[in-house]
Amino acid sequence: MYTVCEAASCPNISECFMRGTASFMILGRYCTRNCAFCDVQHGIPTEIDDEEGKRIAMYIRETDIRYAVITSVTRDDLPDGGASHFVRVVEDIKKSVPSVTIELLVPDFNGSYRSVAEVMSSGIDVFSHNLETVPRMYPDVRAGADYFRSLEILEYAKSMGKANVLIKSGIMTGMGETADELDMVFKDLALAGVDILTIGQYLQPSRNNLRVSRYVSPDEFEKLKLDAKKRGISVVIAGPYIRSSYMAEEAYLQYI
Ligand code: SF4
Repeated sequence: MYTVCEAASCPNISECFMRGTASFMILGRYCTRNCAFCDVQHGIPTEIDDEEGKRIAMYIRETDIRYAVITSVTRDDLPDGGASHFVRVVEDIKKSVPSVTIELLVPDFNGSYRSVAEVMSSGIDVFSHNLETVPRMYPDVRAGADYFRSLEILEYAKSMGKANVLIKSGIMTGMGETADELDMVFKDLALAGVDILTIGQYLQPSRNNLRVSRYVSPDEFEKLKLDAKKRGISVVIAGPYIRSSYMAEEAYLQYI
């Protein structure tokens, strides 16, 4: 078991841990996809570890984590995309630490509504799926993914009408997108019923990944935040160092 925070050498790690937040990667280290911005290793996925949830639960209990983000690599090799494993992990955590707030940051489950319904009904507090970028950039940035499929997943999760589960998404700037394209994404996310949005600067994790197109200034982030709110998204966290899990508890508390 390992936290994404440690594996990705996230610059916000100490701040998040001090705030009682941590992100855990489940379903192995190898992803069946190979997004241009992501440093996770592409390869043949490993066996599912049935004890994973229990170990995460123990870590949460011992480190007084109040807000846990559970995410995973994409597992296109599994018929349910890993949804049943997500559910098992949530159950193990809830059994051991009932007070912890749980956010699931899920892959697109290949568009399976059944998988979305399964994780939405598992007792989570936040359902999160990142669009990452604007539709035009998908072929270069998120090969194997589909902007509208991702959007539909968010929309379907919202349509389940679970008032106690917030819907969240995240995007990155500085990959070559335009302001107008970002505004269209804000509009789409608002129409899909997204409650919380994070907007952060893309940073190239290794020389093999997509290059940064430009660095967005703090003032521009402030404007993007206002634009997204104007479109109807209630809570927007935006800034150069924002990551989808950074300030996750604060965003959640701002909403409820
Ligand atoms: S699907 Fe997720 S984990 Fe896999 S390469 Fe893309 S961003 Fe990384």
